[in-house]
Amino acid sequence: MRRLLLIAVPLAIAAAVFGASRSSGSDSADDTGTGVITFPLSLYVVHEADDTNGTSLSSQRTEEGVRSIAARVGDIWSVAGISFDPVTVHTIELPRDIVADLISGDAGSFLDGDGPGFTVPEPGAINGFYLAFAGGANGFTPRGSRVFFVADESSVHDERVSSHEIGHILSLEHALDDQSRLMFSGTNGMGLTDAEISIARDVAAGIPGATTASGSESDDGVLRLANQGGSDEGHTPRGFAGMGTGLFAGDDLNPNFPDGDGVQTFLTFALPPDLGDPTVALLTSDSLEVSGTPFDDLGPLRAESVSYVDFGPDLFDEIPDGVAVECSRVGEHGLTCDVTDAVVADISNGQDVTQFRLRFDAADDGDGAQDLAAFFDSDPNTNRPGLFTLELFP
Ligand SMILES: [Zn+2]
Repeated sequence: MRRLLLIAVPLAIAAAVFGASRSSGSDSADDTGTGVITFPLSLYVVHEADDTNGTSLSSQRTEEGVRSIAARVGDIWSVAGISFDPVTVHTIELPRDIVADLISGDAGSFLDGDGPGFTVPEPGAINGFYLAFAGGANGFTPRGSRVFFVADESSVHDERVSSHEIGHILSLEHALDDQSRLMFSGTNGMGLTDAEISIARDVAAGIPGATTASGSESDDGVLRLANQGGSDEGHTPRGFAGMGTGLFAGDDLNPNFPDGDGVQTFLTFALPPDLGDPTVALLTSDSLEVSGTPFDDLGPLRAESVSYVDFGPDLFDEIPDGVAVECSRVGEHGLTCDVTDAVVADISNGQDVTQFRLRFDAADDGDGAQDLAAFFDSDPNTNRPGLFTLELFP
């Protein structure tokens, strides 16, 4: 059996794994302020080095696929004011016996570096390894380490597995009572509580290589918040009880709906504590898919500041129409709405969320044809954090 010579930099990863001063968790929510905390994230597609020995233990993922996961992970963690930069993606060849241990869920030989050893290119502050299997789990994180492992096939969204494991690295424990939370095991929940955000930020700020933007002084002090992507968002039609998790605005969403269904989308963004007033706040998306000709037939798409506790089928009729700013299309899939006034008002009111309704001027154009603006990645009937971004400029 051939052994590859991969020993040049002995276990650079070990420093990244064990170099952190472990946080015991802080009792102060104010330690890290509200500036965006940035640290490097390195991701690896794990191949086995000895590919001549029968069944391949290599991950079937591509670097492009992992880059796409990284972008969505960044959206999810942006809610906590945590940002990953630079993000590197490499394919790494590890000795077959170490890969075999890893895919059985045992990271001991990987972390100890017994066996032939290996080099990890460009180790980040947190290092994620994508494996063919992960011991029957979607992913796992060895306690006290800053490495995580993710299986090729998972029962929940890929970005959710990686984001959940990063949560463990940032000292978050499993949530037991709420499936909409990122730290609930085995669901697609993405939500983070204020307490979790506080803990994760405290740990993140202590990671070697982490920088905290001071916001007002930073050239790149734009705070980007992802939409919640959870149960407080979705669409409702006009005039009758109905709702769904997909993000649509327009008419004739469903041929069984009455005419003039005038579907509206509701969005929720968590606002970090102690946020200063932004000079400009933009509600943006690059996930717009148009069906029919809604922008021609129904007038402009507008974003309106709203306030609700629970998203539900009656929301359409409960919330009165208010001032709604006109959104602009940017290219084929982009949308941007200047919601500065609404966000500044919500911040000055001390709200911990800012919420919007997206709707066209007209609920119906009477042509019997579907005219929709939909916001999604692959499945239009799903929602997730990051389909919309709220950009707060200092
Ligand atoms: Zn977990």
